[in-house]
Amino acid sequence: MSLNNSKIHFILLAAGNSTRFSPKDNKLLVKFKNKSILEYNLSKIKEQNFHKITIVVNKIKLPKNQLFNKIELIKGGKTRSLSVKNALINSRYRARYVMVHDAARPLYSNKLINKLSDKIITGKYDCVIPYSNCSDTVLQNNIDINRKNIKLIKTPQVFSKVKLTKLHLLNNNIYLSDDSQLFRASKNSFNIKYILDRYLHIKVTYKDDIESVNELLKLNSRVGIGYDIHRIEKGFKNSYINMAGIKVKSKAKVISHSDGDVILHAITDSILGALSMRDIGTYFPNNKQNLNRNSKEFLNYALSKMNKEKFKINNIDLMIVSEEPKINPYYKKMIKKLVHLLNLNQNQITIKATTNEKSGLIGKGDFIACWSNISIIEI
Ligand code: ZN
Repeated sequence: MSLNNSKIHFILLAAGNSTRFSPKDNKLLVKFKNKSILEYNLSKIKEQNFHKITIVVNKIKLPKNQLFNKIELIKGGKTRSLSVKNALINSRYRARYVMVHDAARPLYSNKLINKLSDKIITGKYDCVIPYSNCSDTVLQNNIDINRKNIKLIKTPQVFSKVKLTKLHLLNNNIYLSDDSQLFRASKNSFNIKYILDRYLHIKVTYKDDIESVNELLKLNSRVGIGYDIHRIEKGFKNSYINMAGIKVKSKAKVISHSDGDVILHAITDSILGALSMRDIGTYFPNNKQNLNRNSKEFLNYALSKMNKEKFKINNIDLMIVSEEPKINPYYKKMIKKLVHLLNLNQNQITIKATTNEKSGLIGKGDFIACWSNISIIEI
């Protein structure tokens, strides 16, 4: 996340009437991936630490979700440009820069947001605008035009707030499809910076666009599986076993080169697996350096690899197989610890536990094992 985001006021436009989408459904409330497009967009924006966030809405009935806490709501206008103008004039927030985004575009990347913020903050530009090249053949009145000269303009767009407000106050054309047009149309010459963005960052306009968005998001997800098993030595009085970063009281000890946390080892392995980066032993062999090592370090290593590849965890499903210790009394504590270590919400982690029905070495209580199944998505 760019630290510069904290200097920017974010305006999310959700006041459109969706007539091209459907006469009765509002496209921003149509669900995909268990969230409406509006919620999906807002949760992404909230992760970016903007100075303040304003949503411009009309008759839309907002979903009951704590996501909307501390978000300023401003009433939209009849058209997009009137909505932006309302937000600029009526918002109680002050900032030097403002980023304006259409809520109907859920597929922007965090990388794009950072680029926009970092460029505008240099003070060299009046606005920074993302665009993509056009790879389709383009006809205008049935005449081919040279697509090399075409820029497809997207949002979010970021501006000097004073300049954007001034241009909106002077503007007579209420049917603008974005705000950068004001800067291009003005007699004053403004310094506009265009940033190349990915082509597939589409705007949901028609009903089958939802299917396209779903397809695109599916392409950016991966899964991984991790497995770990350790031998257990019994017959200790006040011992403990490290599990999910907490100490679980036990009369047994785990035999391990490191601290023997099967859960963290399995999770680490599953993250590396999802990234196609081999396994934990590749990076942390049983050498002197890793003797008694804290498993959180293995986990953090895998998490940093994942961040570098621009992925985040979607959910984790864990299965512990052991006779001893009993997991139930520690379930909540383990979840709480994993929420903290992985920076997730509770509903993204499941821990299940089973015995091996007394069969095999695990069933005899000589081993403890854990499976981790993980899904990660591109950010
Ligand atoms: Zn292990």
